[in-house]
Amino acid sequence: MDGIVPETLRVAAVQPFSPLDFPGRLAAVFFLAGCPWRCPYCHNPELQRRGRGGLPWPRLAAWLEARRGLLDAVVISGGEPTASPHLSALAAALRARGFAVGLHSAGAVPERLAAALPYLDWVGFDVKAPFAAYARITGRTRSGDAARRALDILRESGVAHEIRTTLDPALLDEAALLALARDLARHGVRHWVLQARAEGGRAAPLDLSPALIAALRAEVPEIAFRH
Ligand code: SF4
Repeated sequence: MDGIVPETLRVAAVQPFSPLDFPGRLAAVFFLAGCPWRCPYCHNPELQRRGRGGLPWPRLAAWLEARRGLLDAVVISGGEPTASPHLSALAAALRARGFAVGLHSAGAVPERLAAALPYLDWVGFDVKAPFAAYARITGRTRSGDAARRALDILRESGVAHEIRTTLDPALLDEAALLALARDLARHGVRHWVLQARAEGGRAAPLDLSPALIAALRAEVPEIAFRH
């Protein structure tokens, strides 16, 4: 054992240096396999199921030791990291090694997000649809309830975060996007990032009318666009 992270914990893949995954920090990204949801636009579908591959924690701990002073942070991504029962242990171990810890999550398992938050410095939180319509995207009933709870837990934690949504017109039409903006406003969200869906490795164009953008901003005042 290394601290409280089991030696059996495996990280499916590692991106050694990323300037994009944790605002203002040079970070390594650890991808954990496993996700209970099945979004059609999944960025890493090969990581939806847990496999036996990947790097075991003792090797990663040694890898990190060699990068002290070179990296500011480690981002835990996926898959959906809250699917792992070891998320909070991993975050605590990274923090104990002196790294800032980031998380990319959609909040599928809110209790595990709550357990990890004391060890997190920043969370990129994906909101997929109006909460009542989540199942249409995730393929899982009650996923909207989980996402709603996770969003409240995150916002009440005081941990820095970014709320973001991937725009796929086939899954999220104008009415749904407006309903989502209202949901976010009800949960106190004031800043929202809208990002294009990747198509064949490229971002699809974001095609929102000025009237729609104005209606969205009437609900969530600060909206940023990411291609
Ligand atoms: S929640 Fe994330 S990892 Fe899971 S299926 Fe959806 S996009 Fe993929």
